[in-house]
Amino acid sequence: MRICRFSTGEEPRFGVVTGEVDELGQPAEDSVVVALAGDPLYVGIKVLEEQYALSDVRLLAPIIPRSKVVGIGRNYAAHAAEMGGEVPAEPLMFLKPNTTVVGPGDPIQYPPQTSDLHYEGELAVVIGRICRDVPVEQATDVIFGYTIANDVTARDLQKSDGQFTRAKGFDSFCPLGPWIETDLDPQDFVDGRAVQTFLNGDVVQDGTTADMIFDVPALVAHVSSVMTLLPGDVILTGTPEGVGPMQVGDEVEISIAGIGALTNTVSKRN
Ligand code: MG
Repeated sequence: MRICRFSTGEEPRFGVVTGEVDELGQPAEDSVVVALAGDPLYVGIKVLEEQYALSDVRLLAPIIPRSKVVGIGRNYAAHAAEMGGEVPAEPLMFLKPNTTVVGPGDPIQYPPQTSDLHYEGELAVVIGRICRDVPVEQATDVIFGYTIANDVTARDLQKSDGQFTRAKGFDSFCPLGPWIETDLDPQDFVDGRAVQTFLNGDVVQDGTTADMIFDVPALVAHVSSVMTLLPGDVILTGTPEGVGPMQVGDEVEISIAGIGALTNTVSKRN
């Protein structure tokens, strides 16, 4: 099931997107959004009779994390190598404030403090239940579903600051979407799902989740051994190799096989 947040010009609501998604992550033209009553993370999936053509609604970030976005660094060996670093012995964690989150089609705002703004296409895990100290074998129980993230990073500030808060914490630095796919299993990512990033239509990242060093259950267990996770919190699972700069006016699309495609453009921060 694909859970979205959408607007028809009024208050944001949740819905279910019907129809097939092709291998590029694009939904069928006749896809429909069936409205849900309330927030499915809190009241479950309660389908209403109201429906809209997907093309008639604006999709929003499918979740606004209640408390945090947890990032994982260097979780693909080839990306660790291109960053000039070793593969970490344990998952390397950082936080992005929930104010970084924007939705499909929203602008990534290029701040004046950086001159090296990078895309990082990533699988994002959406937590469904309050949890702490989750054993690896029970991780599936606390996962609501999966979406796509762009872990936007000011690479020059990441290097000069020596830590990640500013480099990854500007408003708009965490596009999420286009929806949350609830029907995948963590094993699907171990088996391998393509993660691709397109910059102005050209493939710049062409990875597979099979290359993740720490898999999804291991990440949920590790993060929850440190901090309580709340419904709607998001874990970014790291990016494959091929990170690189974006410029004002660029369009960046990230697709993950079986989930969909997330597209944003870069604009100057006012
Ligand atoms: Mg990242």
